[in-house]
Amino acid sequence: MITVLRLGERPERDHRINTHLALVARAFGAERMIMAFRDPALISSISGIGERFGGDFNVEIIESAGWRKLMKTWNGIIVHLTMYGQSLKEGIASIRSYEMDPDHPDVHLPDILIVVGGEKVPAEVYQRSTFNIAVGNQPHSEVAALAVFLDRLLDGDGLDREMAGWKHRIIPTERGKRSESRSD
Ligand code: SAM
Repeated sequence: MITVLRLGERPERDHRINTHLALVARAFGAERMIMAFRDPALISSISGIGERFGGDFNVEIIESAGWRKLMKTWNGIIVHLTMYGQSLKEGIASIRSYEMDPDHPDVHLPDILIVVGGEKVPAEVYQRSTFNIAVGNQPHSEVAALAVFLDRLLDGDGLDREMAGWKHRIIPTERGKRSESRSD
């Protein structure tokens, strides 16, 4: 399972960014986002999208210090996205060889926790992560970093998944809008 851990606690200021993070996580191939603050509007908008467009994506809320326990007990790969990390190309190659390494027989690519920061990321996050990976070494956005990382990690397959249980889906077309709806 691919899980995104959103660090930081600024619910009002970060509402739109968090919503976009959840939308991008879902659309690009993750199954879950964990964050440390309640945002009922975000939860309802993401569950509305899932209800209509399908898939099993969900958002979980943990207590504010819960990220530490989650990172300590995570049974898989932890990737922290940071502009200070190793290059994306090298990072993806390292993840692939880590997965194949007989020293890590229980680690599979899907058991991946992707950590994205808010304002200031505690030093412990860098230490506890299996990989610190930069999507370029310029500061930009957690939303962009997550999208590019997931797309590279999954070779674009995350975007092409069919969402189970969809009620409405879009049919790609060169011009105009095509979509299909079903009721069950
Ligand atoms: N000064 C912050 C720091 O300690 O990295 C940057 C904050 S930035 C607005 C919020 C988050 O976006 C970062 O924690 C990181 O997860 C992500 N991010 C921004 N630029 C990135 C980059 N070039 N590569 C990977 N992640 C990036």
